[in-house]
Amino acid sequence: MPKFYITTAIAYTNANPHIGFAMELVQADCLARYHRMIGDEVYFLTGTDEHGMKMAQTAQQAGMETQALVDKNAARYQELAEFLNISNDQFIRTSSAAHKLGAQKLWKAIATNDGFYKAIYEGLYCVGCEAYITEKDLVDGKCPNHKKPPEFFKEENYFFRYSKYLPEVKKAIEEGRLAILPNFRKTEILNLIEESMSEKRDVSFSRPSKTLSWGVPVPDDENQTMYVWCDALSNYITALDYEHDGKLFKKFWPADVHLIGKDILRFHAGYWIAMLLAAKLPLPKAVYVHGYITSEGQKMSKSLGNVVDPFEVGKKYGIEPLRYYLLREIPTADDGDFSVARFEAIYDGELANNLGNLVSRVFTMTEKYSNGKVPSVSKEEHISDKVLETWKQYQTHMENFNLKAAAEEIFALLTFANRYIDEKKPWALAKKEPTEVLKILYHLLELIRHVSFMLMPFLPETSAKIREALHFESAKLYPDNIAWGVLKEGVSVKKIEALFPRQD
Ligand SMILES: [Zn+2]
Repeated sequence: MPKFYITTAIAYTNANPHIGFAMELVQADCLARYHRMIGDEVYFLTGTDEHGMKMAQTAQQAGMETQALVDKNAARYQELAEFLNISNDQFIRTSSAAHKLGAQKLWKAIATNDGFYKAIYEGLYCVGCEAYITEKDLVDGKCPNHKKPPEFFKEENYFFRYSKYLPEVKKAIEEGRLAILPNFRKTEILNLIEESMSEKRDVSFSRPSKTLSWGVPVPDDENQTMYVWCDALSNYITALDYEHDGKLFKKFWPADVHLIGKDILRFHAGYWIAMLLAAKLPLPKAVYVHGYITSEGQKMSKSLGNVVDPFEVGKKYGIEPLRYYLLREIPTADDGDFSVARFEAIYDGELANNLGNLVSRVFTMTEKYSNGKVPSVSKEEHISDKVLETWKQYQTHMENFNLKAAAEEIFALLTFANRYIDEKKPWALAKKEPTEVLKILYHLLELIRHVSFMLMPFLPETSAKIREALHFESAKLYPDNIAWGVLKEGVSVKKIEALFPRQD
Protein backbone atom coordinates (compact mmCIF):
# COMPACT_ATOMS: atom_id res chain seq x y z
CA MET A 1 0.00 0.00 0.00
CA PRO A 2 1.51 3.38 -0.94
CA LYS A 3 1.99 5.78 1.96
CA PHE A 4 1.30 9.50 2.06
CA TYR A 5 2.74 11.72 4.76
CA ILE A 6 1.41 15.27 4.77
CA THR A 7 2.12 18.10 7.19
CA THR A 8 0.92 21.64 7.72
CA ALA A 9 3.23 24.24 9.15
CA ILE A 10 2.86 24.37 12.91
CA ALA A 11 1.00 27.44 14.08
CA TYR A 12 2.72 29.90 16.39
CA THR A 13 0.74 30.02 19.61
CA ASN A 14 1.28 33.71 20.20
CA ALA A 15 -2.10 34.67 18.77
CA ASN A 16 -5.58 33.36 18.10
CA PRO A 17 -6.09 31.09 15.09
CA HIS A 18 -6.91 33.04 11.97
CA ILE A 19 -8.53 32.18 8.67
CA GLY A 20 -5.17 31.68 6.93
CA PHE A 21 -4.29 28.76 9.19
CA ALA A 22 -7.83 27.45 8.83
CA MET A 23 -7.26 27.38 5.08
CA GLU A 24 -3.98 25.53 5.44
CA LEU A 25 -5.64 22.94 7.67
CA VAL A 26 -8.51 22.49 5.25
CA GLN A 27 -6.19 22.18 2.24
CA ALA A 28 -4.08 19.55 3.98
CA ASP A 29 -7.21 17.76 5.15
CA CYS A 30 -8.58 17.68 1.63
CA LEU A 31 -5.38 16.06 0.37
CA ALA A 32 -5.21 13.62 3.27
CA ARG A 33 -8.81 12.53 2.73
CA TYR A 34 -8.24 12.19 -0.99
CA HIS A 35 -5.27 9.91 -0.45
CA ARG A 36 -7.21 7.81 2.03
CA MET A 37 -10.03 7.53 -0.48
CA ILE A 38 -7.71 6.18 -3.17
CA GLY A 39 -6.31 3.65 -0.71
CA ASP A 40 -3.02 5.17 0.44
CA GLU A 41 -1.87 4.76 3.99
CA VAL A 42 -1.99 8.36 5.18
CA TYR A 43 -0.32 10.14 8.06
CA PHE A 44 -1.44 13.71 8.57
CA LEU A 45 0.34 15.97 11.01
CA THR A 46 -0.44 19.42 12.30
CA GLY A 47 0.34 21.18 15.55
CA THR A 48 1.69 24.21 17.33
CA ASP A 49 5.05 25.95 17.57
CA GLU A 50 5.32 27.09 21.17
CA HIS A 51 8.82 28.35 21.85
CA GLY A 52 10.66 31.62 21.46
CA MET A 53 11.31 34.90 23.13
CA LYS A 54 8.05 36.36 21.90
CA MET A 55 6.06 33.66 23.74
CA ALA A 56 7.94 34.29 26.96
CA GLN A 57 7.42 38.06 26.64
CA THR A 58 3.71 37.72 25.95
CA ALA A 59 3.31 35.46 28.98
CA GLN A 60 5.19 37.92 31.13
CA GLN A 61 2.98 40.81 29.99
CA ALA A 62 -0.09 38.71 30.76
CA GLY A 63 1.32 37.78 34.16
CA MET A 64 1.18 34.09 33.30
CA GLU A 65 3.56 31.16 33.33
CA THR A 66 4.74 30.62 29.77
CA GLN A 67 3.66 26.97 29.81
CA ALA A 68 0.20 27.94 31.00
CA LEU A 69 -0.13 30.48 28.20
CA VAL A 70 0.96 28.06 25.47
CA ASP A 71 -1.35 25.37 26.88
CA LYS A 72 -4.24 27.78 26.69
CA ASN A 73 -3.41 28.97 23.18
CA ALA A 74 -2.57 25.52 21.79
CA ALA A 75 -6.00 24.37 22.94
CA ARG A 76 -7.58 26.99 20.65
CA TYR A 77 -5.74 25.51 17.66
CA GLN A 78 -6.77 22.00 18.60
CA GLU A 79 -10.30 23.24 18.91
CA LEU A 80 -10.08 24.82 15.46
CA ALA A 81 -8.90 21.53 13.93
CA GLU A 82 -11.83 19.70 15.49
CA PHE A 83 -14.25 22.45 14.55
CA LEU A 84 -13.21 22.23 10.89
CA ASN A 85 -13.51 18.44 10.89
CA ILE A 86 -9.80 18.03 10.20
CA SER A 87 -8.70 14.40 10.03
CA ASN A 88 -5.17 14.83 11.40
CA ASP A 89 -3.55 11.74 12.90
CA GLN A 90 -1.54 13.73 15.39
CA PHE A 91 -1.34 17.21 16.85
CA ILE A 92 2.24 17.90 17.83
CA ARG A 93 3.21 20.51 20.39
CA THR A 94 6.81 21.63 20.49
CA SER A 95 6.79 22.18 24.24
CA SER A 96 6.23 18.43 24.71
CA ALA A 97 9.04 16.35 26.17
CA ALA A 98 9.04 13.95 23.23
CA HIS A 99 9.53 16.75 20.73
CA LYS A 100 12.41 18.24 22.69
CA LEU A 101 14.25 14.93 22.84
CA GLY A 102 13.75 14.41 19.12
CA ALA A 103 14.96 17.92 18.30
CA GLN A 104 18.05 17.29 20.42
CA LYS A 105 18.74 14.05 18.59
CA LEU A 106 18.60 15.91 15.29
CA TRP A 107 20.94 18.57 16.66
CA LYS A 108 23.41 15.89 17.68
CA ALA A 109 23.24 14.24 14.26
CA ILE A 110 24.04 17.58 12.62
CA ALA A 111 26.82 18.25 15.15
CA THR A 112 28.36 14.79 14.58
CA ASN A 113 28.69 15.66 10.91
CA ASP A 114 30.39 18.96 11.75
CA GLY A 115 27.34 21.01 10.87
CA PHE A 116 27.90 23.61 13.63
CA TYR A 117 30.61 25.98 14.80
CA LYS A 118 30.63 28.55 17.58
CA ALA A 119 31.13 32.22 16.82
CA ILE A 120 30.32 35.68 18.08
CA TYR A 121 27.28 37.27 16.56
CA GLU A 122 26.92 40.98 16.49
CA GLY A 123 23.88 42.56 14.97
CA LEU A 124 20.24 43.46 14.98
CA TYR A 125 17.47 41.14 16.01
CA CYS A 126 13.71 41.50 15.62
CA VAL A 127 11.89 39.66 18.38
CA GLY A 128 8.69 39.77 16.33
CA CYS A 129 10.35 37.89 13.48
CA GLU A 130 12.46 35.82 15.87
CA ALA A 131 15.27 36.47 13.41
CA TYR A 132 18.34 38.56 12.86
CA ILE A 133 17.70 41.42 10.56
CA THR A 134 20.13 43.44 8.48
CA GLU A 135 20.34 47.21 8.25
CA LYS A 136 19.22 47.15 4.63
CA ASP A 137 15.97 45.34 5.55
CA LEU A 138 14.87 48.15 7.88
CA VAL A 139 12.35 50.80 6.91
CA ASP A 140 12.86 54.04 8.87
CA GLY A 141 14.98 52.06 11.30
CA LYS A 142 12.16 49.63 11.97
CA CYS A 143 11.36 46.06 11.03
CA PRO A 144 8.98 46.34 8.05
CA ASN A 145 6.90 43.41 9.35
CA HIS A 146 6.56 44.55 12.93
CA LYS A 147 7.03 48.32 12.71
CA LYS A 148 9.34 48.12 15.70
CA PRO A 149 13.02 48.95 15.95
CA PRO A 150 15.18 45.82 16.25
CA GLU A 151 17.31 45.10 19.28
CA PHE A 152 21.10 45.02 19.18
CA PHE A 153 22.72 41.74 20.18
CA LYS A 154 26.30 40.74 20.67
CA GLU A 155 26.62 37.19 21.80
CA GLU A 156 28.17 33.81 21.23
CA ASN A 157 26.06 31.42 19.14
CA TYR A 158 26.26 28.13 17.39
CA PHE A 159 26.21 28.70 13.67
CA PHE A 160 24.81 26.16 11.24
CA ARG A 161 27.03 25.66 8.18
CA TYR A 162 24.17 26.59 5.88
CA SER A 163 26.44 27.77 3.09
CA LYS A 164 28.18 24.41 2.96
CA TYR A 165 24.92 22.58 2.15
CA LEU A 166 23.37 25.14 -0.17
CA PRO A 167 24.83 23.79 -3.42
CA GLU A 168 23.25 20.43 -2.66
CA VAL A 169 19.95 22.01 -1.66
CA LYS A 170 19.95 23.86 -4.95
CA LYS A 171 20.73 20.69 -6.89
CA ALA A 172 17.94 18.73 -5.21
CA ILE A 173 15.46 21.45 -6.18
CA GLU A 174 16.75 21.83 -9.72
CA GLU A 175 16.69 18.10 -10.32
CA GLY A 176 13.17 17.85 -8.92
CA ARG A 177 14.11 15.39 -6.15
CA LEU A 178 12.56 18.06 -3.98
CA ALA A 179 9.61 19.59 -5.81
CA ILE A 180 8.76 23.19 -4.91
CA LEU A 181 5.24 23.91 -6.04
CA PRO A 182 3.78 25.84 -7.72
CA ASN A 183 6.54 26.41 -10.20
CA PHE A 184 6.93 30.15 -9.61
CA ARG A 185 7.87 29.39 -6.01
CA LYS A 186 10.67 27.17 -7.28
CA THR A 187 12.09 30.12 -9.19
CA GLU A 188 11.70 32.30 -6.11
CA ILE A 189 13.54 29.93 -3.79
CA LEU A 190 16.30 29.25 -6.30
CA ASN A 191 16.93 32.99 -6.47
CA LEU A 192 17.02 33.24 -2.68
CA ILE A 193 19.42 30.31 -2.47
CA GLU A 194 21.72 31.84 -5.04
CA GLU A 195 21.73 35.08 -3.08
CA SER A 196 22.63 33.21 0.12
CA MET A 197 25.32 31.28 -1.73
CA SER A 198 26.96 34.44 -2.98
CA GLU A 199 26.91 35.92 0.53
CA LYS A 200 28.25 32.64 1.98
CA ARG A 201 26.11 33.39 5.00
CA ASP A 202 25.66 30.75 7.71
CA VAL A 203 22.77 30.86 10.14
CA SER A 204 22.87 31.41 13.85
CA PHE A 205 21.18 28.31 15.27
CA SER A 206 21.26 29.03 18.99
CA ARG A 207 20.86 31.83 21.49
CA PRO A 208 22.36 32.20 24.92
CA SER A 209 19.98 30.65 27.46
CA LYS A 210 20.02 33.85 29.53
CA THR A 211 18.24 35.72 26.71
CA LEU A 212 16.24 32.80 25.36
CA SER A 213 15.29 30.36 28.05
CA TRP A 214 11.92 29.30 26.65
CA GLY A 215 13.05 26.69 24.15
CA VAL A 216 14.93 23.46 23.62
CA PRO A 217 18.33 23.36 25.34
CA VAL A 218 21.27 22.66 23.04
CA PRO A 219 22.55 19.16 23.89
CA ASP A 220 25.70 19.17 26.04
CA ASP A 221 25.70 22.97 26.38
CA GLU A 222 23.33 24.31 29.01
CA ASN A 223 24.24 27.88 28.19
CA GLN A 224 22.62 27.72 24.79
CA THR A 225 19.04 27.32 23.57
CA MET A 226 18.12 26.23 20.06
CA TYR A 227 17.05 28.85 17.57
CA VAL A 228 13.26 28.64 17.22
CA TRP A 229 13.30 27.60 13.58
CA CYS A 230 15.74 24.78 14.23
CA ASP A 231 13.42 23.57 16.99
CA ALA A 232 10.18 24.10 15.05
CA LEU A 233 11.22 22.52 11.75
CA SER A 234 12.29 19.32 13.44
CA ASN A 235 8.63 18.66 14.41
CA TYR A 236 8.11 16.95 11.06
CA ILE A 237 10.31 14.07 12.18
CA THR A 238 10.05 14.25 15.98
CA ALA A 239 6.29 13.60 15.58
CA LEU A 240 7.17 10.29 13.90
CA ASP A 241 9.33 9.23 16.83
CA TYR A 242 12.59 9.98 15.10
CA GLU A 243 14.15 9.91 18.55
CA HIS A 244 13.83 6.13 18.73
CA ASP A 245 13.94 5.57 15.01
CA GLY A 246 10.37 4.38 15.59
CA LYS A 247 7.88 2.58 13.38
CA LEU A 248 6.17 5.76 12.20
CA PHE A 249 9.48 7.29 11.22
CA LYS A 250 10.53 4.21 9.29
CA LYS A 251 7.22 3.99 7.52
CA PHE A 252 6.35 7.59 6.77
CA TRP A 253 9.55 9.60 6.43
CA PRO A 254 10.30 11.30 4.06
CA ALA A 255 7.23 13.52 3.89
CA ASP A 256 5.30 13.43 0.66
CA VAL A 257 4.42 17.08 1.06
CA HIS A 258 4.93 19.93 3.49
CA LEU A 259 2.10 22.41 3.04
CA ILE A 260 3.17 25.94 3.97
CA GLY A 261 2.43 29.64 3.56
CA LYS A 262 4.56 31.74 1.26
CA ASP A 263 6.24 33.70 4.08
CA ILE A 264 8.09 30.63 5.35
CA LEU A 265 9.34 29.22 2.06
CA ARG A 266 12.99 30.01 2.81
CA PHE A 267 12.87 28.13 6.10
CA HIS A 268 11.34 25.01 4.58
CA ALA A 269 13.02 24.84 1.20
CA GLY A 270 16.33 26.20 2.52
CA TYR A 271 17.14 25.68 6.21
CA TRP A 272 15.13 22.51 6.70
CA ILE A 273 16.55 20.81 3.63
CA ALA A 274 20.08 21.78 4.62
CA MET A 275 19.46 20.44 8.15
CA LEU A 276 18.31 17.09 6.75
CA LEU A 277 21.31 16.91 4.43
CA ALA A 278 23.62 17.68 7.35
CA ALA A 279 21.97 14.94 9.44
CA LYS A 280 22.11 12.59 6.45
CA LEU A 281 18.35 12.08 6.41
CA PRO A 282 16.14 11.67 3.33
CA LEU A 283 14.58 14.82 1.90
CA PRO A 284 10.83 15.48 1.66
CA LYS A 285 9.39 14.94 -1.79
CA ALA A 286 7.54 18.23 -2.11
CA VAL A 287 6.90 21.59 -0.51
CA TYR A 288 3.62 23.12 -1.58
CA VAL A 289 3.20 26.84 -1.02
CA HIS A 290 -0.14 28.60 -0.66
CA GLY A 291 -0.85 32.32 -0.59
CA TYR A 292 -2.56 34.71 1.80
CA ILE A 293 -6.16 35.62 2.35
CA THR A 294 -7.31 39.20 2.31
CA SER A 295 -10.59 40.40 3.77
CA GLU A 296 -12.95 42.27 1.44
CA GLY A 297 -9.96 43.12 -0.73
CA GLN A 298 -7.79 44.46 2.08
CA LYS A 299 -5.02 43.02 4.18
CA MET A 300 -6.47 41.71 7.44
CA SER A 301 -5.50 43.75 10.46
CA LYS A 302 -6.77 44.34 13.93
CA SER A 303 -6.77 48.09 13.43
CA LEU A 304 -8.95 47.84 10.31
CA GLY A 305 -11.25 45.52 12.22
CA ASN A 306 -11.56 43.20 9.24
CA VAL A 307 -9.96 40.07 10.70
CA VAL A 308 -11.97 37.02 9.65
CA ASP A 309 -12.55 34.61 12.52
CA PRO A 310 -12.95 31.04 11.24
CA PHE A 311 -15.05 30.08 14.27
CA GLU A 312 -17.49 32.90 13.62
CA VAL A 313 -17.92 32.12 9.91
CA GLY A 314 -18.28 28.40 10.58
CA LYS A 315 -20.92 28.98 13.22
CA LYS A 316 -22.90 31.31 11.02
CA TYR A 317 -22.86 29.37 7.73
CA GLY A 318 -21.76 25.86 8.68
CA ILE A 319 -18.43 24.10 8.55
CA GLU A 320 -18.86 22.54 5.13
CA PRO A 321 -19.66 25.83 3.37
CA LEU A 322 -16.59 27.35 5.04
CA ARG A 323 -14.39 24.45 3.92
CA TYR A 324 -15.85 24.72 0.47
CA TYR A 325 -15.20 28.44 0.20
CA LEU A 326 -11.58 28.08 1.30
CA LEU A 327 -10.92 25.27 -1.16
CA ARG A 328 -12.91 26.44 -4.12
CA GLU A 329 -12.76 30.22 -4.02
CA ILE A 330 -9.20 30.87 -2.85
CA PRO A 331 -6.73 29.85 -5.57
CA THR A 332 -4.84 26.92 -4.04
CA ALA A 333 -1.45 28.37 -4.86
CA ASP A 334 -2.09 32.06 -4.76
CA ASP A 335 -3.59 34.88 -2.75
CA GLY A 336 -7.34 35.07 -2.48
CA ASP A 337 -10.02 37.12 -0.84
CA PHE A 338 -12.60 36.47 1.82
CA SER A 339 -15.73 38.38 0.98
CA VAL A 340 -19.12 37.94 2.58
CA ALA A 341 -20.97 38.70 -0.65
CA ARG A 342 -18.89 36.17 -2.52
CA PHE A 343 -19.33 33.63 0.26
CA GLU A 344 -23.09 33.97 0.09
CA ALA A 345 -23.12 33.85 -3.69
CA ILE A 346 -21.17 30.60 -3.66
CA TYR A 347 -23.32 29.18 -0.91
CA ASP A 348 -26.53 29.89 -2.79
CA GLY A 349 -25.29 29.27 -6.31
CA GLU A 350 -23.10 26.23 -5.95
CA LEU A 351 -24.03 24.52 -2.72
CA ALA A 352 -27.74 25.17 -2.37
CA ASN A 353 -28.76 25.45 -6.04
CA ASN A 354 -26.35 23.25 -7.88
CA LEU A 355 -25.50 20.45 -5.44
CA GLY A 356 -28.40 20.57 -2.98
CA ASN A 357 -30.99 21.00 -5.66
CA LEU A 358 -29.68 18.19 -7.85
CA VAL A 359 -29.74 15.71 -5.00
CA SER A 360 -33.20 16.72 -3.88
CA ARG A 361 -34.63 16.68 -7.45
CA VAL A 362 -33.26 13.25 -8.20
CA PHE A 363 -34.27 11.74 -4.88
CA THR A 364 -37.78 13.17 -5.21
CA MET A 365 -38.15 11.77 -8.73
CA THR A 366 -36.89 8.38 -7.54
CA GLU A 367 -39.59 8.44 -4.91
CA LYS A 368 -42.21 9.39 -7.46
CA TYR A 369 -41.31 7.33 -10.50
CA SER A 370 -39.43 4.40 -9.04
CA ASN A 371 -41.03 3.74 -5.67
CA GLY A 372 -38.03 5.20 -3.91
CA LYS A 373 -35.77 2.43 -5.23
CA VAL A 374 -32.78 2.38 -7.54
CA PRO A 375 -34.06 1.32 -10.99
CA SER A 376 -32.34 -1.38 -13.05
CA VAL A 377 -28.73 -0.77 -13.98
CA SER A 378 -28.21 1.10 -17.21
CA LYS A 379 -24.85 1.45 -18.84
CA GLU A 380 -26.02 3.18 -21.99
CA GLU A 381 -26.02 6.87 -22.84
CA HIS A 382 -23.32 9.47 -22.80
CA ILE A 383 -23.58 10.47 -19.15
CA SER A 384 -21.17 7.76 -17.95
CA ASP A 385 -18.46 9.02 -20.30
CA LYS A 386 -18.92 12.48 -18.86
CA VAL A 387 -18.49 11.18 -15.30
CA LEU A 388 -15.41 9.11 -16.09
CA GLU A 389 -13.87 12.06 -17.95
CA THR A 390 -14.52 14.25 -14.89
CA TRP A 391 -12.73 11.69 -12.73
CA LYS A 392 -9.70 11.91 -14.98
CA GLN A 393 -9.52 15.70 -14.74
CA TYR A 394 -10.30 15.71 -11.04
CA GLN A 395 -7.58 13.21 -10.21
CA THR A 396 -4.98 15.03 -12.29
CA HIS A 397 -5.76 18.21 -10.36
CA MET A 398 -5.65 16.45 -6.99
CA GLU A 399 -2.28 14.88 -7.79
CA ASN A 400 -1.02 18.35 -8.73
CA PHE A 401 -2.40 19.85 -5.50
CA ASN A 402 -4.76 22.06 -7.45
CA LEU A 403 -7.75 21.71 -5.15
CA LYS A 404 -9.63 24.65 -6.60
CA ALA A 405 -9.50 23.18 -10.10
CA ALA A 406 -10.65 19.79 -8.77
CA ALA A 407 -13.60 21.43 -7.00
CA GLU A 408 -14.51 23.24 -10.20
CA GLU A 409 -14.62 19.91 -12.05
CA ILE A 410 -17.14 18.56 -9.56
CA PHE A 411 -19.36 21.57 -9.94
CA ALA A 412 -19.13 21.51 -13.71
CA LEU A 413 -20.42 17.94 -13.51
CA LEU A 414 -23.30 19.05 -11.27
CA THR A 415 -24.22 21.80 -13.71
CA PHE A 416 -24.16 19.21 -16.48
CA ALA A 417 -26.46 16.92 -14.49
CA ASN A 418 -28.97 19.66 -13.71
CA ARG A 419 -29.03 20.60 -17.37
CA TYR A 420 -29.48 16.95 -18.31
CA ILE A 421 -32.62 16.85 -16.19
CA ASP A 422 -33.92 20.07 -17.74
CA GLU A 423 -33.37 18.67 -21.23
CA LYS A 424 -34.76 15.20 -20.61
CA LYS A 425 -37.77 16.45 -18.65
CA PRO A 426 -38.49 13.12 -16.92
CA TRP A 427 -41.79 14.49 -15.62
CA ALA A 428 -43.03 14.93 -19.18
CA LEU A 429 -41.85 11.45 -20.20
CA ALA A 430 -43.28 9.70 -17.17
CA LYS A 431 -46.59 8.73 -18.71
CA LYS A 432 -45.52 7.86 -22.25
CA GLU A 433 -42.11 6.32 -21.70
CA PRO A 434 -41.74 5.09 -18.12
CA THR A 435 -38.75 2.81 -18.92
CA GLU A 436 -36.90 5.78 -20.38
CA VAL A 437 -37.51 7.70 -17.17
CA LEU A 438 -36.10 4.83 -15.10
CA LYS A 439 -32.99 4.77 -17.27
CA ILE A 440 -32.50 8.50 -16.79
CA LEU A 441 -33.00 8.14 -13.06
CA TYR A 442 -30.46 5.36 -12.82
CA HIS A 443 -27.92 7.54 -14.58
CA LEU A 444 -28.58 10.43 -12.26
CA LEU A 445 -28.39 8.33 -9.10
CA GLU A 446 -25.17 6.74 -10.24
CA LEU A 447 -23.78 10.18 -11.10
CA ILE A 448 -24.67 11.35 -7.59
CA ARG A 449 -22.88 8.33 -6.14
CA HIS A 450 -19.77 9.31 -8.10
CA VAL A 451 -20.12 12.91 -6.99
CA SER A 452 -20.34 11.77 -3.36
CA PHE A 453 -16.87 10.28 -3.76
CA MET A 454 -15.47 13.33 -5.48
CA LEU A 455 -16.85 15.47 -2.66
CA MET A 456 -15.42 13.30 0.11
CA PRO A 457 -12.14 15.23 0.51
CA PHE A 458 -13.90 18.60 0.28
CA LEU A 459 -17.22 18.12 2.06
CA PRO A 460 -16.82 14.95 4.09
CA GLU A 461 -20.13 15.26 5.96
CA THR A 462 -22.18 16.04 2.88
CA SER A 463 -20.52 13.13 1.12
CA ALA A 464 -21.36 10.81 3.99
CA LYS A 465 -25.00 11.99 4.05
CA ILE A 466 -25.42 11.26 0.36
CA ARG A 467 -23.76 7.86 0.55
CA GLU A 468 -25.88 6.99 3.53
CA ALA A 469 -29.04 7.93 1.67
CA LEU A 470 -27.95 5.65 -1.19
CA HIS A 471 -27.08 2.89 1.29
CA PHE A 472 -23.61 3.05 -0.12
CA GLU A 473 -21.28 3.51 2.77
CA SER A 474 -17.95 2.32 1.41
CA ALA A 475 -15.41 5.14 1.50
CA LYS A 476 -12.80 3.55 -0.79
CA LEU A 477 -12.70 4.35 -4.45
CA TYR A 478 -10.76 1.27 -5.50
CA PRO A 479 -10.91 -1.38 -6.74
CA ASP A 480 -14.58 -1.26 -7.75
CA ASN A 481 -16.29 1.95 -6.79
CA ILE A 482 -14.83 4.16 -9.48
CA ALA A 483 -16.53 2.08 -12.19
CA TRP A 484 -19.87 2.98 -13.79
CA GLY A 485 -22.94 0.98 -12.88
CA VAL A 486 -22.01 0.04 -9.32
CA LEU A 487 -25.24 1.18 -7.68
CA LYS A 488 -27.48 -1.89 -7.37
CA GLU A 489 -31.04 -2.23 -8.54
CA GLY A 490 -33.70 -2.25 -5.86
CA VAL A 491 -31.75 -0.41 -3.18
CA SER A 492 -34.07 2.01 -1.46
CA VAL A 493 -33.09 5.65 -1.52
CA LYS A 494 -33.55 7.39 1.79
CA LYS A 495 -35.06 10.83 1.92
CA ILE A 496 -32.67 13.47 3.21
CA GLU A 497 -33.13 16.98 4.46
CA ALA A 498 -31.93 19.84 2.30
CA LEU A 499 -28.15 19.59 2.21
CA PHE A 500 -27.69 23.35 2.15
CA PRO A 501 -30.76 25.21 3.34
CA ARG A 502 -31.08 28.58 1.72
CA GLN A 503 -29.87 31.54 3.75
CA ASP A 504 -32.34 34.23 4.73
ZN1 LIG B 1 10.04 41.80 12.67
